[in-house]
Formats: sequence, C-alpha cells, structure tokens
Amino acid sequence: MSDNSLRVVWVYPDLLSTYGDQGNVLVVERRARQRGLDVARLDVRSDQPIPTSGDIYLIGGGEDRPQRLAAERLRRDGHLYQAVNNGAIVFAVCAGYQILGHEFVNDLGQREPGLGLLDVTTVRGEGERCVGDVLADIDPRLGLPQLTGFENHQGVTHLGPTARPLANVRLGKGNGTGDGTEGAYNDTVFGTYMHGPVLARNPLIADLLLKLALDVNALPPTDDRWFEALRNERIAAATEPA
Ligand code: GLN
Repeated sequence: MSDNSLRVVWVYPDLLSTYGDQGNVLVVERRARQRGLDVARLDVRSDQPIPTSGDIYLIGGGEDRPQRLAAERLRRDGHLYQAVNNGAIVFAVCAGYQILGHEFVNDLGQREPGLGLLDVTTVRGEGERCVGDVLADIDPRLGLPQLTGFENHQGVTHLGPTARPLANVRLGKGNGTGDGTEGAYNDTVFGTYMHGPVLARNPLIADLLLKLALDVNALPPTDDRWFEALRNERIAAATEPA
C-alpha cells in the first residue's frame, strides 16, 4: 500500500452488512485494481473511529436496531461529516441511505436523527413493506444504463430541495413516496434502496464513484461481459410474467 492508494472505507460491517452489501466494497476494490490503482481497504467496525482521510466510504443496509446503533455511533463519531467536507465520496444502501438523511424512524418507533449529509427525511411507511425487484433509470446527468436491484424496506424517504433523485423506477417502489423516485444524491453523497449488491449488478456506478474520487472524466475500459449477462438475466427475471 502506498501513500497515494485509493482509500476505500467500509463503514460498520458489524452493524450494516445484513444484505450482502460487502459485495459493493469488493466491486469498488476490483474495478480500481483493474485500472492499475493501488487500493487500501479499511473495514471500520462501530467501536472504532471513522478515518477522515478516506476517498470512498461505503455503507450497507441493516435491520432496524443495528441501524439505530449505527446512527448513534456515527453521530457521536462525527468524522464522516469531516470526510465529506474534505471532498470524500459516500455511497450508502437502504439503512445506510436513511442514516445519511436528516432523520428516520427507529426500532423504538421514535424519530432518530441522521447525519444530514443528504437532504432527505425518512418516515415509516403506512403500507406494506417495499420488497422485490427494482428496475430504474438513473438520472440522465449520470448517464448510465438501466439499473437493477432488490429492495426490502419499510421506510419511505422524502427528498428535500438540495437532493436529486438518483433514479426513477420502472419496477419497484424506490423511495416509496409514490412519485417513482429511487435514492438520492448531491455532489458526492449517494443513497439508494437497491441491494443486490447494487454495485455488482451495476458496476458502472462503482466506476462513477471512482471517477469522482480520482477527479477524472473517464477510466480505461474493462471487460464487462459477465456483468452484462448478470444484468440482462436480472432484467429478464424481473419482467417475466408471473
Ligand atoms: N430498517 C430499514 C427499513 O426497513 C432499512 C432496511 C434495509 O436496510 N434493508 O426501512
């Protein structure tokens, strides 16, 4: 590992990795190494301080209680704010996404403050849990092909004026507000309800994070036939008649 390694931080694997979201870390690492980059991966448990010097922070999903504990510890720690102020990239899934917002409803039915790094607020949905396949068109500004994922959440997330929807669902509930939006982002902070792991299903999002972290417009191409086959399989499975 050299001093100019790309530093990829996996936040709280002990609390937020219930849905195979470790795959997101593996995909970012692999796609960086495929481009000849030196990668330092830091797995930071919830009893450890979050480093402020990371380039990309990945946060997974989780059940309601671990989600509350993670939010409490991240607020107390405070370093993720500092990292984002330093220009770090954050990519969070489901519970992690909700934690990045202003607040969510915790396992005790109370409003739990989030980190306020994304202008979103999550309430508990009154309807059925949002569970199932997601197909979504990403914000055209980000210029990526149709996304696939799997969602499983009770929370419904409302976007404030400074958060842009990450995508619009063709299938699935996404933010659950009924307006078809899925996830949210601002300059460097991204949240999505899509598991999968979402970066294994949509590795071009991993490339987007790498480009932002490296401040480049393009990366050398990779052989993505395997990913394409997986994506097409998931699209076919999601859209086949019941
Ligand atoms: N506990 C949250 C919810 O149900 C997040 C779930 C998840 O991370 N899959 O809304």
